[in-house]
Amino acid sequence: MTPTKPSYLIVGAGVFGVSTAYHLLKKYPDASVTLVDRDAFDAETRVAASWDWNKVVRADYDDFVYCQLALEAQDIFETDPLWKPYFTKTGVYWMCRSDYAQDVIKNHQKLGRGDDISAVPVAEARKLYGGLFDNADYSDVKEVLINKSSGWAAAGDALRAVTREAIKLGLKYVTAQVATLQFDNSGNCRGVKTTSGDILTASKVILCTGAYTSKLLEFSAASSGLKDLVAGDRIVAGGITTGMRKVEDPEEYKKFAAMPVGFQGYSAEVGGFIGSLPPTPDTHEMKWWGQTIFKNTREVLPGRFISMPPSEPDYSQWKVSKALKQDIRNATKVFYGKETDSWKLDKHRICWDAFTTSGDFIISPHSAAKGLYVATCGSFHGYKFFPVLGKYILQMLEGDLSPELTEKWAWDRVRPDSMLNPEFPRAEMKDLLDTVARL
Ligand SMILES: Cc1cc2nc3c(=O)[nH]c(=O)nc-3n(C[C@H](O)[C@H](O)[C@H](O)COP(=O)(O)OP(=O)(O)OC[C@H]3O[C@@H](n4cnc5c(N)ncnc54)[C@H](O)[C@@H]3O)c2cc1C
Repeated sequence: MTPTKPSYLIVGAGVFGVSTAYHLLKKYPDASVTLVDRDAFDAETRVAASWDWNKVVRADYDDFVYCQLALEAQDIFETDPLWKPYFTKTGVYWMCRSDYAQDVIKNHQKLGRGDDISAVPVAEARKLYGGLFDNADYSDVKEVLINKSSGWAAAGDALRAVTREAIKLGLKYVTAQVATLQFDNSGNCRGVKTTSGDILTASKVILCTGAYTSKLLEFSAASSGLKDLVAGDRIVAGGITTGMRKVEDPEEYKKFAAMPVGFQGYSAEVGGFIGSLPPTPDTHEMKWWGQTIFKNTREVLPGRFISMPPSEPDYSQWKVSKALKQDIRNATKVFYGKETDSWKLDKHRICWDAFTTSGDFIISPHSAAKGLYVATCGSFHGYKFFPVLGKYILQMLEGDLSPELTEKWAWDRVRPDSMLNPEFPRAEMKDLLDTVARL
């Protein structure tokens, strides 16, 4: 008897899910691959962290493994006709308050890369790019990392294009919200149930559900009785605010048009790093993300408390409080100083991602159910790996992932204290909301 071919059901069409579908169908053109997401892939707006105007694509990592993977992904962004139209190589300008620059450079040297990367003394760096960052906040900055090979990607556009390509290769895209996972009598995962009651089945179910993962696992544990499905403290949903400013004046646009991506790096005690992205070529909007990274801890089921995105279908992503808008205002100021006082910030969004304390992804079989796999936890840095994520997720599905990556991305592993990670969500969203006057 010939063994039945596996079928794949991927939940979540962010970079983890779409890259998995794409790599699966490239390798196995006859495979049955279904991707289900609550939002259409070409919807006007989406809740996915991967859906965005732009994201930084860089290999400036002090972690050797991510440095190597980011270079692999960046090379594809630079050369492959599918990805190339969405990548702009602007370089990065990273104000470092630790030995970060030296650690990154050491990794690049170890990998024998010839990229144009250097650590520049502050006084010298301030004069670069026509003095664009001369008014930045340099307090405690040791040196500035300049990597001319890094840049940014038109995030939502690339996501749509690769999804379209996967559909051309045979992907079935279903727009539906998954309510729970489905299991057979032996506890093997066999598919999902949508909120409208439809059942989708497959022999392998891969959760690429980003910030929603813990909530889905809580509901699935409750409905199936398989208590060990829950994520516990492995995964924390965290929100970060982004803000945009349209550069109206053509002369001013010229000043920022070719700017590198800016970073302000801080220590774990101070908070996460802040980023400033160049204006988008079509709409001339500059983008920042803030420093406040927050949880939204709620009672998901009686007695069960987890951090999760707000329960509105759009995660309330456009409802941004004054405190979070101020976070963006502060972000503009630490890059460009006083001139930002008169800037009008037009658009704000809260973007939700799944975090682990170590900042590592989880790409692993789920230990509580056969047929169930988890591939998510971008931990605020996952987008840039879009071109290669699926390759490694496929290796995990087939048991071919290297021992090092298997351990690093395991569902069950010892994780460090979150206090060591400046990007880990610490604040609570409820403390950052606008106060409502009570009569
Ligand atoms: C503000 C911000 C800035 C960032 N900047 C960068 C950057 O510059 N560079 C970088 O490399 N990374 C960056 N990241 C990180 C990166 O965006 C994420 O790590 C990555 O996009 C996560 O991808 P994902 O596929 O895991 O999740 P997502 O992109 O969030 O996708 C998850 C998908 O699952 C779907 N889903 C969830 N639950 C269900 C359900 N029950 N039923 C149906 N569908 C469901 C959602 O609709 C969504 O489409 C940033 C993140 C944030 C928040």
